Amino acid sequence: MRLDKLLSNMGFGSRKEVRILLKKGTVRLNAEPIKDATAHINLEYDEVTVLGERVVYKEFIYLMMNKPQGVLSATEDRKDRTVIDLLDAENRRFEPFPVGRLDKDTEGFLLLTNDGKLTHNLLSPKKGVSKTYFAHIDGIVTNDDIERFAEGVTLEDGYLTKPGKLVILKSADVSEIELTITEGKFHQVKRMFEAVNKKVIYLKRLSMGPLALDENLILGSYRELTKEELKLLT
Ligand code: URA
Repeated sequence: MRLDKLLSNMGFGSRKEVRILLKKGTVRLNAEPIKDATAHINLEYDEVTVLGERVVYKEFIYLMMNKPQGVLSATEDRKDRTVIDLLDAENRRFEPFPVGRLDKDTEGFLLLTNDGKLTHNLLSPKKGVSKTYFAHIDGIVTNDDIERFAEGVTLEDGYLTKPGKLVILKSADVSEIELTITEGKFHQVKRMFEAVNKKVIYLKRLSMGPLALDENLILGSYRELTKEELKLLT
């Protein structure tokens, strides 16, 4: 890849800005200063530094976000803020998109990436990747609900869900539960509770497949997946 394209792709500015950087002599190729924007670079063999810092090329980005309420799991929207608006310019440059959707009022684990293949694998109904949610439910959740979820419940449109694993953490006027499902139908958790005449009043996703929400991420913040986490997904 041409040096100016590479550096521009890596966030060092527009091609024009990169050419100015090159003119200033701040870029080195294999330890030698380089000013030729058209030089062909292969980062497998070549070492490029800008102001002494090594340029490491990456094609894909994988971010774990703790999605807050009030933002959309979309890449753009005319009215509302989206999860992409929460990213800094450095990460937005990779043009990531959310892997699946959380409702506007749902919080928690959201993966953002520009890796279409991984996204497809994680969302493919055939793979049945599990998702675990924590929820507050208006009303007393019972053992009968556990059994009904284990068999699958019929949603209002007649769809019979796959079995869900319901765990009651607190059974009270406002109950607390964890629910693990292997599908991702629109509003699925809310609709499953509606099917047993109960209402979800707070919903947070805790995990997706092998990855759990990093407790250190405050609402609205995000971080790159570690190498180990990425390995678990691929
Ligand atoms: N189920 C829902 O009802 N909403 C979500 O955001 C995710 C799962």
